[in-house]
Amino acid sequence: MNPSLTQARTARRTHSFTESVIREMTRVAREHDAINLAQGFPDFPAPQALKDAACDAIQADVNQYAVTWGSPSMREALVEKYASWYGLNIEGDREITVTCGATEAMASVMLAVVNPGDEVIVLEPFYENYGPDAILCQAHPVFLPLEPPAYRIDPERLASLITDRTRAIVINTPNNPSGRVFDESEMNAVRDLCVKHDILAITDEIYEHIIYEGSHIPLATLPGMRDRTIIISGLSKTFSVTGWRVGTIVAPPDLTDAIRKVHDFLTVGAPAPLQEACAAGMRILGPDYYQDMVEGYRKRRDVLYGALTDAGFRCSRPEGAYYIMADFSDLSDLDDRAFSIRLTSECGVTPVPGSSFFHDPAGGGRSIVRFVFCKRIETLTEAGERLRSYFQG
Ligand code: GLN
Repeated sequence: MNPSLTQARTARRTHSFTESVIREMTRVAREHDAINLAQGFPDFPAPQALKDAACDAIQADVNQYAVTWGSPSMREALVEKYASWYGLNIEGDREITVTCGATEAMASVMLAVVNPGDEVIVLEPFYENYGPDAILCQAHPVFLPLEPPAYRIDPERLASLITDRTRAIVINTPNNPSGRVFDESEMNAVRDLCVKHDILAITDEIYEHIIYEGSHIPLATLPGMRDRTIIISGLSKTFSVTGWRVGTIVAPPDLTDAIRKVHDFLTVGAPAPLQEACAAGMRILGPDYYQDMVEGYRKRRDVLYGALTDAGFRCSRPEGAYYIMADFSDLSDLDDRAFSIRLTSECGVTPVPGSSFFHDPAGGGRSIVRFVFCKRIETLTEAGERLRSYFQG
């Protein structure tokens, strides 16, 4: 159909953002039969205990709607999780909402707390959903640049972005795509500004258990933040079940009331049997599971990091999550998109173009691509061999 007719037939809010580049690159990888190091999903199995629990729940006929804001078992498991990991006391009945992935969580939260015309501060480079989520609320994303290679939060620069329309700041730590785990001084600086200017913090903590250096500091644990922080997380990454779509929100009761209304009308609820399985997983899988997972990812990180540096990319070892931002300016003059396509078709390895993590297409990311390492060691070794021989012969 003629593009201007399509524009006229569709809502303007959809015109201001584009298709997900991450998922587009997954399609490009498939077309070329390349190794997909673009989209962050594991190519190894989920824990057996979790799969058994899901099958059991289905066989036990847990197949109808769960309670809209989350099955009792899931909310109980979350109360225990936040108490034991972070010393946070959460009221399961009034402060938790279980959603269809962290993606729905972020959209429901923004729709519940952000008004048209508000400003929402987003760290850049960013995970691609935050800008469109703000736009769906008719709010304005305002970007705080994190300068490579350190990708640190600069408190003065953050302070300079705050206006009387600033409603919220989105903090994703461990961070996708930079690999940063923000440290105490960075988190304290964010805390100070949120408290001083009465700003909400929306924290995306989906990689909370995938940390190699430093430790995870939930902003909600810092003084004055519990009442102004909305914690988003989920089980996709922790349990390697990205297709299950089980996300979680913890927020003070008044905010939770609003979030639950949005969530209810958007999706009714997250999949009932999979909530049972995730609750069982949180109960059954102990410290060994979490340690093994991190060690597994640390090995994978080192395999990919070694291959990328051998091939001639410039990058640093991520402190958390499972992504590496790699600068290819020593290897090619192409822009990030052309480089990603060429790498896919000629080398058989697919990254995500760096510009998809920046708001200005002509701005940052032009000589950067992002690779994931949530793949089997064999997959990463093969990708590494391809990259070494393609660039170094
Ligand atoms: N979070 C993952 C990534 O950054 C998956 C994104 C997605 O497709 N939802 O690659």
